[in-house]
Amino acid sequence: MSHGSTHHRDDALRSVPHPGERLAFNGDNAFQRELRRRVEADLRGRGRGQRDSAAMYAKTAIILTVFFASYVALVLFAQAWWQALPLTLLLGTAMAGIGFNIMHDGGHQAYSRHRWVNKIMAFTLDLVGGSSYIWQWKHARYHHTYVNIARHDSDIDLGVLGRLSPEQPRRPWHRFQHIYLWLLYPVTAIRWHLYGDFRDLLTGRIGARPFKRPRGGDLVLLVLGKLVFFTLAFGLPLAFHPPGTVVLFYAIVSAVAGFLLAIVFQLAHVVEEADFPQPDDTSGRMETPWAIHQLQTTVDFARDNRVLGWLIGGLNFQVEHHLFVRISHVHYPAVAKVVEVTCREFGVPYHAHRTLFAGIASHYRWLRRLGAVPAAGEPPLPHGGGQGPSRAGSATHALPRG
Ligand SMILES: [Zn+2]
Repeated sequence: MSHGSTHHRDDALRSVPHPGERLAFNGDNAFQRELRRRVEADLRGRGRGQRDSAAMYAKTAIILTVFFASYVALVLFAQAWWQALPLTLLLGTAMAGIGFNIMHDGGHQAYSRHRWVNKIMAFTLDLVGGSSYIWQWKHARYHHTYVNIARHDSDIDLGVLGRLSPEQPRRPWHRFQHIYLWLLYPVTAIRWHLYGDFRDLLTGRIGARPFKRPRGGDLVLLVLGKLVFFTLAFGLPLAFHPPGTVVLFYAIVSAVAGFLLAIVFQLAHVVEEADFPQPDDTSGRMETPWAIHQLQTTVDFARDNRVLGWLIGGLNFQVEHHLFVRISHVHYPAVAKVVEVTCREFGVPYHAHRTLFAGIASHYRWLRRLGAVPAAGEPPLPHGGGQGPSRAGSATHALPRG
């Protein structure tokens, strides 16, 4: 699905039959049109296609090789814990790497101009335990369209376990969420494997929003994906190891992957600089145009860290990802330069943390603050969003490069 125009976005909204939940953005897309024109001209001017980059095909081969090699070594050859432990870390990291780099680009049609290539790449998510079909709805549609809008973006909904948005109710135990949530992040992949997809399939809902259950070929692929994953995670290892060992190593591998996935997401949207806007009470519409909403709710980090960027599929450039979902992530550093300049010109906020640690610290402070402030009776929390002065101690607004 493209976010390239209001036209496309309206189509996506219409396919979600949920009266009362329909949510439109301000239709003034002048900024978005100019930004898109400049980014496309920049890539074209340097002779770069938007997709099908050789670097991506090479990267895919490397990550899948590491994934299968560490899996085979762990299941078939590891004899002692000191051999198994580094392999579990490597395997967990490779699982997250498949998610960040291969399936994410594929699922967003950013990998190739060929639909079938994207589909195969997206299906690598099923290999590591998540349904790429459900992800299409949950991530590509709901999360990307309605970032940080409570009750619409299920990615910021931790239920009673945590309060990520000021719009969510505060519970007494949230006072400690800046401590205990770090211990829950590793569980997110396990929850996804064993519960999340199955719950969504049974209820026909993703968070508060309904989705179309898979049928025909989609259903066959979903079931096939689950069979492959459960065979890899449990079936095959059980042929060589006692059940306790299999469960323990499954848990460690998934904890590594889950922690990495959760952290990269949280640093993009759940930090002090990110905004959590809500639709206007009377019109039910979002005040800002869609592209500006993305910039208000999304934060880059460690843009100069090329090793990190390689490992996490360019998701340290989440701003660029959210604005240009269909451009391969290998181009994000170049796209970022155009976005930053254009934002400055149009007076649109652009948030970035200089380092990974700065992002983590900001996430920690945001959790502590939301856990401490009562939801009702207090003045609302100030948002980032670029209006008004930036909050003390936060690295916000466009940072000089280098
Ligand atoms: Zn995405």
